[in-house]
Amino acid sequence: MSTSTEQTHHSLIAGEPVPGTDGTTRAVDPARNAESGPEFSLLDNGQVAEATRAAAEAFADYRKVGPEARAAFLETAAERIEQAGEEIIADAMRETGLPEARLKGELARTANQLRLFAKVSRAGDHHGVRIEPALPDRKPLPRPDLRQRTLPLGPVAVFGASNFPLAFSVAGGDTASALAAGCPVVVKAHNAHPATSLLVGQALSTAVAEHGLPAGVFSLVHGRGNAIGQALVSDPRIKAVGFTGSRRGGTALAATAAARPEPIPVFAEMSSVNPVFVLPSSIAGGDTGGRDALADGFVTSLNGSAGQLCTAPGLLFVPEGSDGDDLVTRITEKLSAADGTTMLTPDICSARVEAEKTLASVDGVDELGRGGAGAGENAPAPAVHTTDVETFANTPRLSDEVFGAVCLVVRYTSADQLPSVAGALEGQLTATLWIDTEADADHGAVRDLLESLELRAGRVLVNGWPTGVDVGDAMVHGGPYPATSDGRSTSVGAGAIERFLRPVVYQNVPASLLPAPVREDNPWNLTRRVDGVPVVAGEEENA
Ligand code: NAP
Repeated sequence: MSTSTEQTHHSLIAGEPVPGTDGTTRAVDPARNAESGPEFSLLDNGQVAEATRAAAEAFADYRKVGPEARAAFLETAAERIEQAGEEIIADAMRETGLPEARLKGELARTANQLRLFAKVSRAGDHHGVRIEPALPDRKPLPRPDLRQRTLPLGPVAVFGASNFPLAFSVAGGDTASALAAGCPVVVKAHNAHPATSLLVGQALSTAVAEHGLPAGVFSLVHGRGNAIGQALVSDPRIKAVGFTGSRRGGTALAATAAARPEPIPVFAEMSSVNPVFVLPSSIAGGDTGGRDALADGFVTSLNGSAGQLCTAPGLLFVPEGSDGDDLVTRITEKLSAADGTTMLTPDICSARVEAEKTLASVDGVDELGRGGAGAGENAPAPAVHTTDVETFANTPRLSDEVFGAVCLVVRYTSADQLPSVAGALEGQLTATLWIDTEADADHGAVRDLLESLELRAGRVLVNGWPTGVDVGDAMVHGGPYPATSDGRSTSVGAGAIERFLRPVVYQNVPASLLPAPVREDNPWNLTRRVDGVPVVAGEEENA
Protein backbone atom coordinates (compact mmCIF):
# COMPACT_ATOMS: atom_id res chain seq x y z
CA MET A 1 0.00 0.00 0.00
CA SER A 2 1.29 3.45 -0.79
CA THR A 3 0.43 6.92 -1.95
CA SER A 4 3.69 7.74 -3.75
CA THR A 5 3.95 11.31 -5.01
CA GLU A 6 5.50 10.06 -8.27
CA GLN A 7 2.23 8.93 -9.76
CA THR A 8 -1.38 10.03 -10.09
CA HIS A 9 -3.72 8.09 -7.84
CA HIS A 10 -7.27 7.07 -8.63
CA SER A 11 -10.58 6.02 -7.18
CA LEU A 12 -10.89 2.44 -6.00
CA ILE A 13 -13.94 0.80 -7.53
CA ALA A 14 -14.63 -2.80 -6.50
CA GLY A 15 -10.97 -3.19 -5.59
CA GLU A 16 -9.56 -1.76 -8.83
CA PRO A 17 -8.03 1.68 -9.49
CA VAL A 18 -10.21 3.64 -11.91
CA PRO A 19 -8.73 6.83 -13.43
CA GLY A 20 -11.16 9.75 -13.32
CA THR A 21 -11.89 11.94 -16.33
CA ASP A 22 -12.95 15.14 -14.52
CA GLY A 23 -9.53 16.68 -13.86
CA THR A 24 -7.22 16.24 -10.88
CA THR A 25 -6.73 17.59 -7.38
CA ARG A 26 -4.06 17.65 -4.68
CA ALA A 27 -4.44 18.02 -0.95
CA VAL A 28 -3.41 21.28 0.68
CA ASP A 29 -1.12 21.16 3.69
CA PRO A 30 -3.04 23.63 5.86
CA ALA A 31 -0.01 24.46 8.02
CA ARG A 32 1.78 25.84 4.94
CA ASN A 33 -1.14 26.80 2.72
CA ALA A 34 0.59 24.86 -0.04
CA GLU A 35 -0.42 21.92 -2.20
CA SER A 36 1.15 18.69 -1.02
CA GLY A 37 1.22 14.99 -1.71
CA PRO A 38 0.27 13.14 -4.87
CA GLU A 39 -2.18 14.09 -7.58
CA PHE A 40 -5.61 12.43 -7.57
CA SER A 41 -7.82 12.02 -10.61
CA LEU A 42 -11.48 12.94 -10.14
CA LEU A 43 -14.37 10.84 -11.41
CA ASP A 44 -17.15 12.30 -13.50
CA ASN A 45 -20.81 11.61 -12.78
CA GLY A 46 -21.08 8.75 -15.25
CA GLN A 47 -18.11 6.93 -13.74
CA VAL A 48 -19.72 6.89 -10.30
CA ALA A 49 -22.30 4.51 -11.74
CA GLU A 50 -19.54 1.88 -12.04
CA ALA A 51 -19.26 1.88 -8.25
CA THR A 52 -23.00 1.79 -7.60
CA ARG A 53 -23.46 -0.98 -10.16
CA ALA A 54 -20.76 -3.06 -8.48
CA ALA A 55 -22.35 -2.35 -5.08
CA ALA A 56 -25.79 -3.43 -6.27
CA GLU A 57 -24.36 -6.67 -7.70
CA ALA A 58 -22.44 -7.34 -4.50
CA PHE A 59 -25.55 -6.78 -2.39
CA ALA A 60 -27.22 -9.89 -3.77
CA ASP A 61 -24.66 -12.11 -2.03
CA TYR A 62 -23.31 -9.89 0.73
CA ARG A 63 -26.67 -9.46 2.41
CA LYS A 64 -26.83 -13.22 2.96
CA VAL A 65 -23.38 -13.54 4.53
CA GLY A 66 -23.78 -15.00 8.03
CA PRO A 67 -22.91 -13.23 11.29
CA GLU A 68 -19.58 -14.97 11.87
CA ALA A 69 -18.25 -14.34 8.35
CA ARG A 70 -19.31 -10.69 8.46
CA ALA A 71 -17.69 -10.25 11.87
CA ALA A 72 -14.44 -11.88 10.72
CA PHE A 73 -14.32 -9.55 7.71
CA LEU A 74 -14.74 -6.46 9.92
CA GLU A 75 -11.99 -7.70 12.24
CA THR A 76 -9.62 -8.19 9.32
CA ALA A 77 -10.43 -4.68 8.10
CA ALA A 78 -9.45 -3.35 11.55
CA GLU A 79 -6.19 -5.30 11.43
CA ARG A 80 -5.27 -4.13 7.94
CA ILE A 81 -5.87 -0.51 8.93
CA GLU A 82 -3.68 -0.94 12.01
CA GLN A 83 -0.95 -2.55 9.90
CA ALA A 84 -0.93 0.48 7.59
CA GLY A 85 -1.17 2.78 10.62
CA GLU A 86 2.19 4.53 10.35
CA GLU A 87 1.69 5.47 6.74
CA ILE A 88 -1.93 6.47 7.31
CA ILE A 89 -1.00 8.75 10.20
CA ALA A 90 1.86 10.39 8.29
CA ASP A 91 -0.46 11.25 5.39
CA ALA A 92 -3.26 12.35 7.73
CA MET A 93 -0.92 14.73 9.60
CA ARG A 94 0.18 16.32 6.35
CA GLU A 95 -3.33 16.59 4.94
CA THR A 96 -5.28 17.74 8.02
CA GLY A 97 -2.80 19.55 10.29
CA LEU A 98 -4.05 17.39 13.18
CA PRO A 99 -1.34 16.30 15.63
CA GLU A 100 0.08 12.79 15.74
CA ALA A 101 -1.30 11.91 19.18
CA ARG A 102 -4.84 12.83 18.17
CA LEU A 103 -4.57 10.84 14.93
CA LYS A 104 -3.10 7.80 16.70
CA GLY A 105 -6.07 7.86 19.06
CA GLU A 106 -8.44 8.23 16.14
CA LEU A 107 -6.88 5.31 14.29
CA ALA A 108 -7.30 3.12 17.38
CA ARG A 109 -10.92 4.27 17.66
CA THR A 110 -11.53 3.45 13.99
CA ALA A 111 -10.22 -0.10 14.44
CA ASN A 112 -12.21 -0.49 17.66
CA GLN A 113 -15.39 0.65 15.93
CA LEU A 114 -14.93 -2.03 13.30
CA ARG A 115 -14.41 -4.57 16.11
CA LEU A 116 -17.48 -3.27 17.94
CA PHE A 117 -19.57 -3.94 14.84
CA ALA A 118 -18.01 -7.39 14.56
CA LYS A 119 -19.40 -8.01 18.06
CA VAL A 120 -22.74 -6.53 17.07
CA SER A 121 -22.82 -8.87 14.08
CA ARG A 122 -22.13 -11.92 16.27
CA ALA A 123 -24.66 -10.90 18.95
CA GLY A 124 -27.29 -10.53 16.24
CA ASP A 125 -29.84 -8.42 18.17
CA HIS A 126 -30.19 -6.17 15.12
CA HIS A 127 -31.94 -8.98 13.24
CA GLY A 128 -34.89 -8.04 15.44
CA VAL A 129 -36.49 -11.49 15.27
CA ARG A 130 -40.10 -11.65 16.51
CA ILE A 131 -42.07 -14.83 16.11
CA GLU A 132 -45.79 -15.42 16.59
CA PRO A 133 -46.47 -19.09 15.83
CA ALA A 134 -49.73 -19.91 14.07
CA LEU A 135 -52.86 -20.26 16.25
CA PRO A 136 -55.22 -22.17 13.95
CA ASP A 137 -57.91 -22.44 16.63
CA ARG A 138 -57.91 -18.79 17.65
CA LYS A 139 -61.43 -17.24 17.68
CA PRO A 140 -62.92 -15.40 15.96
CA LEU A 141 -60.07 -15.76 13.42
CA PRO A 142 -57.07 -18.08 13.31
CA ARG A 143 -53.65 -16.38 13.63
CA PRO A 144 -51.21 -16.96 10.78
CA ASP A 145 -47.58 -17.91 11.45
CA LEU A 146 -45.69 -14.57 11.59
CA ARG A 147 -41.89 -14.26 11.60
CA GLN A 148 -40.31 -10.83 11.55
CA ARG A 149 -36.66 -9.93 11.01
CA THR A 150 -34.69 -7.03 9.55
CA LEU A 151 -33.09 -6.78 6.14
CA PRO A 152 -30.25 -4.49 5.04
CA LEU A 153 -31.48 -1.57 2.91
CA GLY A 154 -28.98 -2.02 0.06
CA PRO A 155 -25.93 -0.03 -1.08
CA VAL A 156 -25.14 2.95 1.16
CA ALA A 157 -23.35 6.16 0.12
CA VAL A 158 -21.05 7.53 2.83
CA PHE A 159 -19.58 11.05 2.82
CA GLY A 160 -16.32 11.16 4.78
CA ALA A 161 -15.99 14.01 7.29
CA SER A 162 -13.15 16.53 7.16
CA ASN A 163 -12.75 16.77 10.94
CA PHE A 164 -12.38 13.05 11.66
CA PRO A 165 -10.28 11.81 8.73
CA LEU A 166 -10.36 8.28 10.15
CA ALA A 167 -13.17 7.67 12.64
CA PHE A 168 -15.88 9.45 10.60
CA SER A 169 -14.37 8.89 7.18
CA VAL A 170 -13.63 6.00 4.82
CA ALA A 171 -13.81 3.18 7.42
CA GLY A 172 -15.57 5.24 10.08
CA GLY A 173 -18.75 4.57 12.00
CA ASP A 174 -21.10 5.00 9.03
CA THR A 175 -19.14 2.53 6.91
CA ALA A 176 -18.63 0.03 9.75
CA SER A 177 -22.31 0.02 10.73
CA ALA A 178 -23.52 -0.24 7.12
CA LEU A 179 -21.15 -3.14 6.39
CA ALA A 180 -22.25 -4.87 9.60
CA ALA A 181 -25.87 -4.46 8.53
CA GLY A 182 -25.12 -6.21 5.23
CA CYS A 183 -24.99 -3.11 3.01
CA PRO A 184 -22.21 -2.55 0.45
CA VAL A 185 -20.69 0.93 0.81
CA VAL A 186 -19.57 3.56 -1.69
CA VAL A 187 -17.54 6.26 0.08
CA LYS A 188 -17.19 9.75 -1.37
CA ALA A 189 -13.66 10.68 -0.23
CA HIS A 190 -13.31 14.10 1.39
CA ASN A 191 -11.07 16.13 -0.88
CA ALA A 192 -9.18 17.52 2.12
CA HIS A 193 -7.57 14.12 2.82
CA PRO A 194 -7.40 12.06 -0.40
CA ALA A 195 -4.21 10.12 0.38
CA THR A 196 -5.41 9.17 3.87
CA SER A 197 -8.68 8.05 2.29
CA LEU A 198 -6.94 5.93 -0.31
CA LEU A 199 -4.74 4.13 2.23
CA VAL A 200 -7.73 3.27 4.39
CA GLY A 201 -9.72 2.31 1.29
CA GLN A 202 -6.92 -0.04 0.19
CA ALA A 203 -6.94 -1.67 3.64
CA LEU A 204 -10.70 -2.24 3.43
CA SER A 205 -10.50 -3.58 -0.13
CA THR A 206 -7.77 -5.99 0.95
CA ALA A 207 -10.05 -7.32 3.69
CA VAL A 208 -12.90 -7.72 1.18
CA ALA A 209 -10.65 -9.79 -1.10
CA GLU A 210 -9.14 -11.85 1.74
CA HIS A 211 -12.60 -12.95 2.82
CA GLY A 212 -13.69 -13.83 -0.71
CA LEU A 213 -16.51 -11.29 -0.60
CA PRO A 214 -17.88 -9.72 -3.79
CA ALA A 215 -15.49 -6.89 -4.73
CA GLY A 216 -18.30 -4.32 -5.01
CA VAL A 217 -18.89 -4.52 -1.23
CA PHE A 218 -16.63 -1.48 -0.99
CA SER A 219 -15.66 1.37 -3.32
CA LEU A 220 -13.99 4.73 -2.74
CA VAL A 221 -14.72 7.55 -5.17
CA HIS A 222 -12.80 10.81 -5.53
CA GLY A 223 -14.56 13.77 -7.11
CA ARG A 224 -16.41 17.02 -6.57
CA GLY A 225 -19.30 16.98 -4.12
CA ASN A 226 -21.58 19.06 -6.29
CA ALA A 227 -21.03 16.63 -9.16
CA ILE A 228 -20.38 13.07 -8.02
CA GLY A 229 -21.80 13.56 -4.52
CA GLN A 230 -25.12 14.55 -6.04
CA ALA A 231 -24.88 11.80 -8.67
CA LEU A 232 -24.27 9.22 -5.95
CA VAL A 233 -27.30 10.23 -3.91
CA SER A 234 -29.46 10.42 -7.05
CA ASP A 235 -28.40 6.96 -8.24
CA PRO A 236 -31.35 4.55 -7.94
CA ARG A 237 -29.03 1.76 -6.75
CA ILE A 238 -28.12 3.73 -3.59
CA LYS A 239 -30.64 3.06 -0.81
CA ALA A 240 -29.39 5.23 2.11
CA VAL A 241 -26.83 7.94 2.87
CA GLY A 242 -24.50 8.62 5.82
CA PHE A 243 -22.98 12.10 5.99
CA THR A 244 -20.98 14.25 8.43
CA GLY A 245 -20.23 17.85 7.51
CA SER A 246 -21.89 21.21 7.07
CA ARG A 247 -25.55 22.00 7.53
CA ARG A 248 -25.63 23.31 3.97
CA GLY A 249 -24.13 20.13 2.49
CA GLY A 250 -26.25 17.76 4.58
CA THR A 251 -29.45 19.65 3.87
CA ALA A 252 -28.70 19.76 0.12
CA LEU A 253 -28.11 16.01 0.02
CA ALA A 254 -31.27 15.33 2.05
CA ALA A 255 -33.24 17.43 -0.47
CA THR A 256 -31.74 15.47 -3.38
CA ALA A 257 -32.60 12.18 -1.68
CA ALA A 258 -36.17 13.30 -0.98
CA ALA A 259 -36.69 14.44 -4.60
CA ARG A 260 -35.76 11.06 -6.11
CA PRO A 261 -38.52 8.97 -7.71
CA GLU A 262 -37.72 6.57 -4.84
CA PRO A 263 -36.81 8.80 -1.88
CA ILE A 264 -34.21 7.35 0.49
CA PRO A 265 -33.17 8.11 4.09
CA VAL A 266 -30.24 10.45 4.71
CA PHE A 267 -28.51 10.27 8.08
CA ALA A 268 -26.63 13.56 8.12
CA GLU A 269 -24.80 14.82 11.17
CA MET A 270 -24.47 18.56 10.70
CA SER A 271 -24.33 21.33 13.24
CA SER A 272 -24.50 21.69 17.00
CA VAL A 273 -23.38 24.32 19.52
CA ASN A 274 -23.51 21.94 22.50
CA PRO A 275 -24.77 24.28 25.23
CA VAL A 276 -23.27 23.97 28.69
CA PHE A 277 -25.28 25.28 31.67
CA VAL A 278 -23.25 26.13 34.76
CA LEU A 279 -25.51 26.27 37.83
CA PRO A 280 -24.43 28.59 40.68
CA SER A 281 -23.76 25.75 43.14
CA SER A 282 -21.21 24.10 40.85
CA ILE A 283 -19.00 27.21 40.90
CA ALA A 284 -19.03 27.29 44.66
CA GLY A 285 -17.44 23.82 44.80
CA GLY A 286 -19.53 20.83 45.78
CA ASP A 287 -18.46 17.74 43.84
CA THR A 288 -17.36 19.55 40.68
CA GLY A 289 -13.85 20.59 41.66
CA GLY A 290 -14.73 24.28 41.78
CA ARG A 291 -14.03 27.25 39.53
CA ASP A 292 -10.44 26.45 38.56
CA ALA A 293 -11.34 22.96 37.42
CA LEU A 294 -14.33 24.36 35.54
CA ALA A 295 -12.26 27.01 33.76
CA ASP A 296 -9.53 24.51 32.89
CA GLY A 297 -11.93 21.89 31.63
CA PHE A 298 -13.83 24.40 29.55
CA VAL A 299 -10.78 25.86 27.78
CA THR A 300 -9.36 22.39 27.08
CA SER A 301 -12.70 21.23 25.65
CA LEU A 302 -13.13 24.39 23.57
CA ASN A 303 -9.62 24.47 22.12
CA GLY A 304 -8.99 20.75 21.53
CA SER A 305 -8.49 19.91 17.82
CA ALA A 306 -8.77 23.66 17.11
CA GLY A 307 -12.42 23.50 18.18
CA GLN A 308 -13.22 21.34 15.15
CA LEU A 309 -15.15 18.71 17.07
CA CYS A 310 -18.86 18.34 16.45
CA THR A 311 -19.34 18.28 20.24
CA ALA A 312 -17.22 21.35 21.08
CA PRO A 313 -18.92 23.69 23.60
CA GLY A 314 -20.05 26.75 21.65
CA LEU A 315 -22.39 28.18 24.32
CA LEU A 316 -21.66 28.50 28.02
CA PHE A 317 -24.37 29.74 30.38
CA VAL A 318 -22.89 31.35 33.52
CA PRO A 319 -24.81 33.04 36.35
CA GLU A 320 -24.54 36.78 37.01
CA GLY A 321 -22.98 37.71 40.35
CA SER A 322 -19.58 37.47 41.95
CA ASP A 323 -19.14 33.68 41.61
CA GLY A 324 -19.99 33.85 37.92
CA ASP A 325 -17.69 36.87 37.46
CA ASP A 326 -14.89 34.96 39.13
CA LEU A 327 -15.41 31.95 36.86
CA VAL A 328 -15.39 34.17 33.78
CA THR A 329 -12.17 35.85 34.94
CA ARG A 330 -10.49 32.49 35.36
CA ILE A 331 -11.70 31.37 31.92
CA THR A 332 -10.23 34.53 30.43
CA GLU A 333 -6.91 33.91 32.18
CA LYS A 334 -6.71 30.28 31.04
CA LEU A 335 -7.68 31.25 27.51
CA SER A 336 -4.96 33.90 27.28
CA ALA A 337 -2.42 31.12 27.89
CA ALA A 338 -3.90 28.90 25.14
CA ASP A 339 -2.73 28.94 21.53
CA GLY A 340 -4.58 28.16 18.36
CA THR A 341 -3.60 25.16 16.27
CA THR A 342 -3.77 24.54 12.54
CA MET A 343 -7.30 24.12 11.22
CA LEU A 344 -8.24 21.44 8.70
CA THR A 345 -8.37 23.54 5.55
CA PRO A 346 -7.90 27.18 4.55
CA ASP A 347 -11.64 27.32 3.70
CA ILE A 348 -12.71 25.97 7.09
CA CYS A 349 -10.37 28.50 8.74
CA SER A 350 -11.74 31.45 6.78
CA ALA A 351 -15.33 30.31 7.47
CA ARG A 352 -14.50 30.30 11.20
CA VAL A 353 -12.90 33.76 11.06
CA GLU A 354 -15.91 35.20 9.21
CA ALA A 355 -18.41 33.50 11.56
CA GLU A 356 -16.61 34.97 14.58
CA LYS A 357 -16.77 38.44 13.01
CA THR A 358 -20.51 38.03 12.48
CA LEU A 359 -20.96 36.97 16.10
CA ALA A 360 -18.87 39.87 17.41
CA SER A 361 -20.80 42.39 15.29
CA VAL A 362 -24.10 41.76 17.10
CA ASP A 363 -25.16 44.62 19.40
CA GLY A 364 -24.77 43.52 23.00
CA VAL A 365 -21.98 41.01 22.29
CA ASP A 366 -18.50 41.83 23.67
CA GLU A 367 -15.19 40.07 23.44
CA LEU A 368 -14.23 38.48 26.74
CA GLY A 369 -10.87 37.03 25.98
CA ARG A 370 -8.58 35.56 23.37
CA GLY A 371 -5.60 33.24 23.28
CA GLY A 372 -2.66 33.43 20.90
CA ALA A 373 -2.57 32.51 17.24
CA GLY A 374 -0.74 29.26 16.57
CA ALA A 375 2.41 28.79 14.50
CA GLY A 376 2.05 28.51 10.74
CA GLU A 377 -0.96 29.23 8.61
CA ASN A 378 -4.63 28.77 9.47
CA ALA A 379 -4.22 28.71 13.27
CA PRO A 380 -6.43 31.51 14.62
CA ALA A 381 -6.49 32.30 18.33
CA PRO A 382 -9.23 30.67 20.41
CA ALA A 383 -11.73 33.30 21.54
CA VAL A 384 -14.64 33.82 23.91
CA HIS A 385 -17.37 36.46 23.59
CA THR A 386 -20.15 37.32 26.00
CA THR A 387 -23.72 38.59 26.12
CA ASP A 388 -26.68 38.68 28.49
CA VAL A 389 -29.52 36.20 28.45
CA GLU A 390 -32.09 38.68 27.08
CA THR A 391 -29.91 39.57 24.08
CA PHE A 392 -29.30 35.89 23.51
CA ALA A 393 -33.00 35.02 23.67
CA ASN A 394 -33.88 37.83 21.23
CA THR A 395 -31.14 37.09 18.67
CA PRO A 396 -31.56 33.60 17.15
CA ARG A 397 -28.35 33.82 15.09
CA LEU A 398 -26.31 33.90 18.30
CA SER A 399 -26.91 30.19 18.54
CA ASP A 400 -25.51 29.44 15.06
CA GLU A 401 -22.55 27.07 15.02
CA VAL A 402 -19.10 28.64 14.68
CA PHE A 403 -16.96 25.68 13.65
CA GLY A 404 -13.73 26.34 15.55
CA ALA A 405 -12.56 27.40 19.01
CA VAL A 406 -15.07 30.21 19.55
CA CYS A 407 -17.60 30.28 22.37
CA LEU A 408 -20.33 32.65 23.50
CA VAL A 409 -20.71 33.02 27.27
CA VAL A 410 -24.31 33.92 28.16
CA ARG A 411 -24.88 35.47 31.59
CA TYR A 412 -28.23 34.68 33.20
CA THR A 413 -29.78 36.13 36.35
CA SER A 414 -31.80 33.16 37.61
CA ALA A 415 -31.77 29.42 37.00
CA ASP A 416 -35.51 29.73 36.40
CA GLN A 417 -34.71 31.45 33.07
CA LEU A 418 -32.84 28.43 31.75
CA PRO A 419 -35.58 25.90 30.86
CA SER A 420 -37.25 28.31 28.44
CA VAL A 421 -33.89 29.38 26.94
CA ALA A 422 -33.01 25.71 26.51
CA GLY A 423 -36.42 24.96 25.02
CA ALA A 424 -35.87 27.60 22.32
CA LEU A 425 -32.55 26.14 21.15
CA GLU A 426 -32.26 24.19 17.92
CA GLY A 427 -31.56 20.46 18.11
CA GLN A 428 -28.17 19.58 19.60
CA LEU A 429 -25.84 16.61 19.73
CA THR A 430 -25.18 17.29 23.40
CA ALA A 431 -26.34 19.43 26.31
CA THR A 432 -24.42 19.68 29.57
CA LEU A 433 -25.33 20.58 33.13
CA TRP A 434 -22.80 21.57 35.78
CA ILE A 435 -24.46 21.15 39.15
CA ASP A 436 -23.69 20.23 42.74
CA THR A 437 -25.22 16.76 42.60
CA GLU A 438 -25.87 16.70 46.35
CA ALA A 439 -27.45 20.13 46.62
CA ASP A 440 -29.13 20.36 43.19
CA ALA A 441 -30.50 16.89 42.57
CA ASP A 442 -33.94 17.71 43.89
CA HIS A 443 -33.91 21.31 42.77
CA GLY A 444 -36.98 22.02 40.68
CA ALA A 445 -35.19 24.33 38.23
CA VAL A 446 -32.52 21.70 37.50
CA ARG A 447 -35.14 19.05 36.88
CA ASP A 448 -37.07 21.41 34.58
CA LEU A 449 -33.87 22.21 32.72
CA LEU A 450 -33.00 18.53 32.30
CA GLU A 451 -36.50 17.80 31.00
CA SER A 452 -36.19 20.69 28.56
CA LEU A 453 -32.75 19.55 27.36
CA GLU A 454 -33.69 15.90 26.83
CA LEU A 455 -36.12 17.15 24.17
CA ARG A 456 -33.41 19.16 22.40
CA ALA A 457 -30.34 16.89 22.52
CA GLY A 458 -29.16 13.36 21.78
CA ARG A 459 -26.90 13.21 24.86
CA VAL A 460 -27.39 14.99 28.19
CA LEU A 461 -24.34 15.10 30.47
CA VAL A 462 -23.82 16.15 34.06
CA ASN A 463 -20.49 17.52 35.30
CA GLY A 464 -18.42 16.65 32.25
CA TRP A 465 -17.39 18.17 28.93
CA PRO A 466 -19.14 17.12 25.74
CA THR A 467 -16.01 16.53 23.66
CA GLY A 468 -14.86 12.92 23.74
CA VAL A 469 -17.59 10.50 22.72
CA ASP A 470 -17.47 7.05 24.27
CA VAL A 471 -18.04 4.47 21.53
CA GLY A 472 -20.09 1.59 22.87
CA ASP A 473 -23.44 -0.06 23.18
CA ALA A 474 -25.39 2.73 24.91
CA MET A 475 -23.99 5.83 23.18
CA VAL A 476 -26.23 8.24 21.27
CA HIS A 477 -24.53 10.66 18.91
CA GLY A 478 -27.52 12.24 17.28
CA GLY A 479 -30.25 14.69 18.07
CA PRO A 480 -33.06 16.73 16.50
CA TYR A 481 -32.43 18.87 13.39
CA PRO A 482 -29.97 20.47 12.66
CA ALA A 483 -27.75 18.29 14.87
CA THR A 484 -28.83 15.58 12.45
CA SER A 485 -31.29 15.25 9.61
CA ASP A 486 -33.00 12.39 11.44
CA GLY A 487 -33.03 12.49 15.22
CA ARG A 488 -34.33 8.94 15.54
CA SER A 489 -30.87 7.48 15.19
CA THR A 490 -27.25 7.59 16.32
CA SER A 491 -24.13 7.70 14.17
CA VAL A 492 -21.84 6.44 16.96
CA GLY A 493 -22.14 3.20 18.89
CA ALA A 494 -23.84 -0.11 18.30
CA GLY A 495 -27.25 1.48 17.63
CA ALA A 496 -25.88 3.03 14.40
CA ILE A 497 -26.59 -0.25 12.60
CA GLU A 498 -30.36 0.30 12.93
CA ARG A 499 -30.17 3.12 10.35
CA PHE A 500 -29.46 0.68 7.54
CA LEU A 501 -32.11 -1.95 8.27
CA ARG A 502 -35.82 -2.37 7.67
CA PRO A 503 -38.24 -4.98 9.03
CA VAL A 504 -39.92 -7.64 6.94
CA VAL A 505 -42.40 -10.26 8.13
CA TYR A 506 -42.89 -13.73 6.67
CA GLN A 507 -46.52 -14.84 6.94
CA ASN A 508 -47.26 -18.57 6.61
CA VAL A 509 -44.02 -19.12 4.68
CA PRO A 510 -43.17 -22.84 4.66
CA ALA A 511 -40.28 -23.83 6.94
CA SER A 512 -38.14 -24.96 3.99
CA LEU A 513 -38.29 -21.45 2.49
CA LEU A 514 -37.61 -19.45 5.65
CA PRO A 515 -34.30 -17.55 5.96
CA ALA A 516 -31.91 -18.60 8.74
CA PRO A 517 -32.73 -15.86 11.31
CA VAL A 518 -36.39 -16.87 11.60
CA ARG A 519 -36.09 -20.63 11.21
CA GLU A 520 -37.47 -22.71 14.08
CA ASP A 521 -34.05 -24.32 14.76
CA ASN A 522 -32.44 -20.87 15.10
CA PRO A 523 -29.18 -21.78 13.29
CA TRP A 524 -27.67 -18.30 13.95
CA ASN A 525 -28.37 -18.69 17.66
CA LEU A 526 -30.20 -15.36 17.86
CA THR A 527 -32.04 -13.97 20.84
CA ARG A 528 -35.63 -13.47 19.69
CA ARG A 529 -39.08 -12.56 20.96
CA VAL A 530 -41.58 -15.39 20.81
CA ASP A 531 -45.17 -14.35 21.46
CA GLY A 532 -43.76 -11.06 22.78
CA VAL A 533 -41.44 -12.71 25.33
CA PRO A 534 -37.63 -12.45 24.91
CA VAL A 535 -36.00 -15.85 24.49
CA VAL A 536 -32.25 -15.62 25.00
CA ALA A 537 -30.08 -17.54 22.56
CA GLY A 538 -29.09 -20.90 24.01
CA GLU A 539 -31.83 -20.83 26.63
CA GLU A 540 -34.75 -21.89 24.42
CA GLU A 541 -35.40 -24.99 26.51
CA ASN A 542 -36.15 -22.80 29.54
CA ALA A 543 -38.61 -20.61 27.69
P1 NAP B 1 -19.00 20.02 3.75
O1 NAP B 1 -18.71 21.23 2.95
O2 NAP B 1 -20.41 19.80 4.12
O3 NAP B 1 -18.47 18.77 2.90
C1 NAP B 1 -18.59 17.42 3.36
C2 NAP B 1 -18.63 16.49 2.15
O4 NAP B 1 -19.89 16.65 1.48
C3 NAP B 1 -17.57 16.77 1.11
O5 NAP B 1 -17.16 15.54 0.54
C4 NAP B 1 -18.28 17.61 0.07
O6 NAP B 1 -17.71 17.46 -1.20
C5 NAP B 1 -19.68 17.04 0.13
N1 NAP B 1 -20.69 18.05 -0.19
C6 NAP B 1 -20.83 19.26 0.39
N2 NAP B 1 -21.88 19.91 -0.13
C7 NAP B 1 -22.43 19.08 -1.04
C8 NAP B 1 -23.55 19.18 -1.92
N3 NAP B 1 -24.30 20.27 -1.96
N4 NAP B 1 -23.81 18.15 -2.73
C9 NAP B 1 -23.03 17.04 -2.70
N5 NAP B 1 -21.97 16.89 -1.90
C10 NAP B 1 -21.67 17.90 -1.08
O7 NAP B 1 -18.16 19.96 5.08
P2 NAP B 1 -16.61 20.20 5.33
O8 NAP B 1 -15.87 20.36 4.05
O9 NAP B 1 -16.18 19.11 6.19
O10 NAP B 1 -16.55 21.53 6.19
C11 NAP B 1 -17.20 22.73 5.83
C12 NAP B 1 -17.96 23.25 7.03
O11 NAP B 1 -18.80 22.22 7.54
C13 NAP B 1 -17.12 23.65 8.23
O12 NAP B 1 -16.61 24.94 8.13
C14 NAP B 1 -18.11 23.48 9.35
O13 NAP B 1 -18.89 24.63 9.46
C15 NAP B 1 -18.98 22.35 8.93
N6 NAP B 1 -18.65 21.06 9.59
C16 NAP B 1 -19.34 20.72 10.70
C17 NAP B 1 -19.06 19.53 11.33
C18 NAP B 1 -19.78 19.11 12.57
O14 NAP B 1 -19.46 18.05 13.09
N7 NAP B 1 -20.72 19.85 13.08
C19 NAP B 1 -18.07 18.66 10.83
C20 NAP B 1 -17.40 19.03 9.68
C21 NAP B 1 -17.72 20.23 9.08
P3 NAP B 1 -16.70 18.56 -1.82
O15 NAP B 1 -15.72 18.89 -0.75
O16 NAP B 1 -16.10 17.90 -2.97
O17 NAP B 1 -17.58 19.69 -2.18
